[in-house]
Order: sequence, then C-alpha cells, then structure tokens
Amino acid sequence: MDRAAAQEPVRPIEEACYWLATRRHRPQPRLEGDARADIAIVGAGYTGLWTALFLKELDPGADIAVIEQGVAAYGASGRNAGMLAETIDHTHQLAIRHFGLEEARLLAHLGRENIEEMFSFMSHRGIDCELEQTGRLLVALTEGQVEDCRHTVEAAERLGVTDYRILSACEARSELDSPLYLGGVMVPSGGILNPAALVDGLLRAAVSEGVRVFERSRVTRIDQTRDGLVLRTGVGALRARKTILAMSAYTHHLLPGVLRRFIPLYDYILVSEPLTAGQLASIGWQHRQGVTDGRTFFNYYRLTSDNRLVWGTSEATYFGPNRVDEGCDHSEPHYASLRDSFKRHFPALAEIPFPYAWGGPICSTTRMTPFFGSANRGRILYVLGFTGHGIGSTRLAGKILAHLALEKMHPLLDLSIVRRKPFPYPPEPFRSMAVNAVTAALRRVDAGHNPSLLLRILDAAGIGFSS
Ligand SMILES: Cc1cc2nc3c(=O)[nH]c(=O)nc-3n(C[C@H](O)[C@H](O)[C@H](O)COP(=O)(O)OP(=O)(O)OC[C@H]3O[C@@H](n4cnc5c(N)ncnc54)[C@H](O)[C@@H]3O)c2cc1C
Repeated sequence: MDRAAAQEPVRPIEEACYWLATRRHRPQPRLEGDARADIAIVGAGYTGLWTALFLKELDPGADIAVIEQGVAAYGASGRNAGMLAETIDHTHQLAIRHFGLEEARLLAHLGRENIEEMFSFMSHRGIDCELEQTGRLLVALTEGQVEDCRHTVEAAERLGVTDYRILSACEARSELDSPLYLGGVMVPSGGILNPAALVDGLLRAAVSEGVRVFERSRVTRIDQTRDGLVLRTGVGALRARKTILAMSAYTHHLLPGVLRRFIPLYDYILVSEPLTAGQLASIGWQHRQGVTDGRTFFNYYRLTSDNRLVWGTSEATYFGPNRVDEGCDHSEPHYASLRDSFKRHFPALAEIPFPYAWGGPICSTTRMTPFFGSANRGRILYVLGFTGHGIGSTRLAGKILAHLALEKMHPLLDLSIVRRKPFPYPPEPFRSMAVNAVTAALRRVDAGHNPSLLLRILDAAGIGFSS
C-alpha cells in the first residue's frame, strides 16, 4: 500500500480491461430532464443491480431507477478477477476473530447458501457469465503459510465446514505446477466467472423486471426536498423518496462523512494472451481453480474461458488524499512487480505477453467486511467496504439494503455486519502515515518475520488485517 504517485491514464479502462474490452453490453439511455422514482440507486455494479432486483422481488410495484456515471460495470464490478468465494469475510479465521464463533458459524452458512442461490438465479435467468464451479485453491509459499493452511482447515471445521482439504507440496503442485508451492488447501466451493458478463446479465434481468437504468449520468449533488431527495446530474434530475448509494469506493464523493470508516485503495491486474495447449500442459491446472497464496499481500490468479492467465495482486495502493479517479487506473510499478512475481511462480512461461493491464478501486474497512449506514434521516442508505471480496457478498448486501429501504424485517438485519460499524480510520495526514506503517509491518510478516508490536496492538484491539 505504498503512497505511490498516481500516473496519467495511458489507455482508457474500456480498452485496457480485458473484461470491458471484450464484453457485449446493451447501452442504456442517459438521464436527461426530470425523472421520478420511488427509490433511486446510484451505481450500476453488483450492489446496485442486486439491490434493484431484490427491491422488485419484495415489492414488484415499486418504481426503481439506477443511475450510473459510466456504463454499468465501470467500477470494480467490471474490473475484478472474477474469483468467486463463498465466505462473507475474507477467511473463517477473520470471521471468528471479528464476530465470535457463533456468528462466524452463521456467516459461513449464509455465505454458502448465498452463492447457491446466486447460481440458481443465474441458471433460471439464463445469465451466461462463463461461470465454472471449480472450487478454490489456497497455496503456501513459506513454512509459516503451511502451518496457516492447517489453521485454515481447523477454523473451517470449527464452523461446521468439513470439506476443506489439506494438500502436501506434491499434491498442490499436481493441481498447478509452481516450484514455489510448499502445500495448500483445496476448497470445493466457489469458482470463476466473467465479472462484466455477470453485470450485463444482472442488468438485463433488472431491466426485464421494469427497473430503469440510466448510464453516462454522473450524480454530482443530492438535494433534499420536503418529501424526498433530488439527484442532480449535469443535464438531468431524478426525484426519489429514498436513495441507495451503491457506489463502493466512490461513496465519499457524495457523502464525505463515510471516510471515517473506510479507505479507498487500488488493486492491479494483468491478462495474458491465450495459453497454447503446450503452455497449459507445462503447468498442469486441469481443474482450473482460482488460486490465492497465503500472504497478506497475495497474488491471485485464474484462467479465462479462452485460457488467458489473469494475474493480480492484493498489494493495494492508497493514493492520498482518498483519490478515486482515472489517474489511478494504471500503475507501471505495479505492472512491473506483477510481471516479476509471475516469472518467479511460472518460470516456464516467463516470456508470455500480457496485452491487458489495469487497476480498479476497492474500499477497505478495518475489519475487512462491509458495513451499512444511513444519512439524511434514513432517506439515504448505503453499504461499502467489500475490501476486494465482493462478488458473492454484494448479493447479500443487496438483499439487506432492499429490506432496509422497504422497512421490512429480515433475520439478516440482526447480523453484526449490519448493526456494528468497523473501527474508524484516522483523517489525513495521519491516514497516510498509518497506511504506510501498517503496510511495512504486514510486508515483514509476508517475508516470514513475526508480527510487530503495532500489528499485535491492532490485533488485540480487534482490528485484524491478516489471518
Ligand atoms: C482489481 C480488482 C480485483 C478484484 N478481484 C475480486 C475477486 O476476484 N473476487 C471478488 O469477490 N471481488 C474482487 N474484487 C472486489 C469486487 O470487484 C467488489 O467488491 C465489487 O465489485 C463491489 O461492487 P459494487 O457494486 O459495490 O461497487 P462498484 O462495482 O465499484 O460499483 C460502484 C458504481 O458506482 C458508480 N458511481 C460512482 N460514483 C457515481 C456517481 N457520482 N454517479 C453515478 N454513478 C457513480 C461507479 O461508476 C460504479 O459503477 C476486486 C476488485 C478489484 C478492483
């Protein structure tokens, strides 16, 4: 999380991001003039579209409008790695640490149920987002991480999840052959998908339910009226009784107060040319699982449906003060470091070209899970803080937001992620200083050192970054 200098955009994101460059998107109109809706949603990513779909399910007569500054999937939902995990928190260990054993058990159950429901929704609605239910592979690169793998399986078992399986170095390498692997864990749940195609599928489903979606309509201001709110863009105004901000890392642009509880960061990804059959055979990977390693700043990787390699890093960067804009979409230092780490993992493929490279904004909280809030006497509702882990959990968030907006009871509203806010971040300039100090301390742990006093204090305060 270096405070690296942001660079001018080299290539527009619509060309640089493999998913956006190759998608089949049906454009939606701009908001022009005056419009009205019962509930307005700002942001056409997963959160906005799932929320619209759940609102329609709960109240089919409700008039719902979604308003998006770019095209749908312009944010993280169109730029992510498409690796779907079943956990709500990043790991079961973190869930236990942050919410206690009983609630962690419930979250583990809800996470699995959530992705099963998601799969069945996709299949009923004919959403083709290249979903492959491959499961997931966690790999250990140090002896300490081999030990962590054992803890991962034990934590899963404590929560009643009994299908995680420890892999020896040999077994891990028979799944995917990197000389760096010392062991791993096989997780049967989860899979890989095309993230922008998922947005396009959700968009089609929402429009077919009567949801209006406006694209290329940036909300620049929200004004209060006697009976609701007016969302203003340059050329249009949308009046609504309630507004849901599904803006993730951009939320502070309209609601600066939320910065107390989250920090916007950028993650970066490379995508290769398609691997030949020979190249694929040289590394194995018959089961095509998405892979993450055991570091805090881990690499994540997977294959696309045409066998390109997606190679990403969770070494997320903070561009102070709280920048989220096109100037952060590319980072040459991150691309160079991604190419280096790739060569170390797969020396046999060291020469493959990566024609696509991009970054995207994630929003992080001190507990690595989202939180919910309201403003303007409950007329504005929001969720943010998926911390690089939202493909599954945004669906659950959409269900929660829809119930909150319609003031309908649901057991999900009793969860701690809904009721409790995460520990706050300091404001600038202390924010940058804190990010740098914690990043340096976590890097040392990734390099095999024991956690520093700073990390132990944060841990004792319930602010866990690593598992
Ligand atoms: C590089 C990268 C890799 C990732 N990899 C994974 C992964 O493999 N697995 C996983 O589970 N998660 C991953 N994530 C995280 C995941 O993508 C996010 O958690 C998820 O997409 C959040 O969805 P969202 O709808 O809340 O936010 P977003 O998709 O960011 O949507 C917010 C939308 O609001 C719009 N908006 C913002 N401001 C305005 C405004 N003023 N007016 C109108 N519209 C506005 C934006 O344009 C955007 O479309 C990754 C994220 C990144 C960046």
